[in-house]
Amino acid sequence: MGIEPRAGILDIRPYKPGAAEAPGIADPVKLSSNENALGCSPKAAAAFEASAKRLHLYPDGGATKLREAIAREEGLEAENIVCGCGSDELLQLLGRAYLDPGDKVVQSQYGFLVYRLVAMQSGAELVSAPERNYTTDVDALIEAAGDDAKIVFLANPNNPTGTYISDAEVRRLRDALPSSTLLVVDAAYAEFVRNADYSAGLELARERDDVVVTRTFSKIHGLAGARLGWAYGNKSIIDVLHRVRGPFNVNLPAIEAGTAAIADRDFMKRSADHNEEWVAWLRQQIGGLGLEVTPSVCNFVLIHFPETPGRTARDADAFLTSKGLIIRPVEPYGLPNALRATVGKAAENRRLVDGLAEFMGG
Ligand SMILES: *Cc1c(COP(=O)(O)O)cnc(C)c1O
Repeated sequence: MGIEPRAGILDIRPYKPGAAEAPGIADPVKLSSNENALGCSPKAAAAFEASAKRLHLYPDGGATKLREAIAREEGLEAENIVCGCGSDELLQLLGRAYLDPGDKVVQSQYGFLVYRLVAMQSGAELVSAPERNYTTDVDALIEAAGDDAKIVFLANPNNPTGTYISDAEVRRLRDALPSSTLLVVDAAYAEFVRNADYSAGLELARERDDVVVTRTFSKIHGLAGARLGWAYGNKSIIDVLHRVRGPFNVNLPAIEAGTAAIADRDFMKRSADHNEEWVAWLRQQIGGLGLEVTPSVCNFVLIHFPETPGRTARDADAFLTSKGLIIRPVEPYGLPNALRATVGKAAENRRLVDGLAEFMGG
């Protein structure tokens, strides 16, 4: 007889990361995890390497230098920032700190899978609000939240759909929720979005004490392997997160790499420029093959496949994998007829389109 974990833990379906290998293919193209097509800032890589001489030392538990660099670049107050081992950790910490068993957690229909994990780990009840056109529907979220949601998780823009809602819509959502509901705005892809009506929500988080914004170094900064994220919010929330985080939750090389990365605005701009060009190209090319592509402001596209035998998302995934093209099934999100493909380097994007063209033509 084993030792029983807390109620509900064994119901959790462990998070399955994007595949990294295609059987029998030596040099597969990995477009399954929304990693940065350009790699990372050379300055960040150099800072990471230089930190090797100090690996015997504990890092600064408060990641002060990194928080100050973020504050400087983003025009924020360092004391209102907490850093984490990826923004995933910060989402987990929010659950640990604020959720009791039975609490209600609300997300949008195709919301990022980590919200489900966070809710289940705390024994909270997850309610999903229907979307329209693969886009968050604020009215549906408000209705689902009612007057007793503890946390509303909003990925803006969202993964795996790639869509976003405007700052005005986020504010309308916040205004409609009771002040006892914490609104978590997960803006992992914020730096890619150039639409004038978009905001990552930092201003809103500054104005209110019931909003927290999470950000990541995994996407625009290309530091997914370093595991680094940050949250910004009112001091009362940030103080709570500091209490529940591990004493040294952000490692020393990550602090060094992140501090260099956030200051490298040139690398960030190049990443966003590359993305703007290629996300539009992918949508146009893949759309030209007769496949529906959801308009995306992120570094990936959601591609919809027909249910015709031989032409399904599952068939496409198997075919592409056999060609060494690894993209992401999104069945766990309730999207069995779609696949998500990350924007890659120019040649990788061309290979993907060629592969899809062969699949559709074959
Ligand atoms: C990639 C992603 C994150 C970032 O996770 P990290 O733990 O920081 O790597 C957070 N939220 C969403 C919606 C994402 O797609």
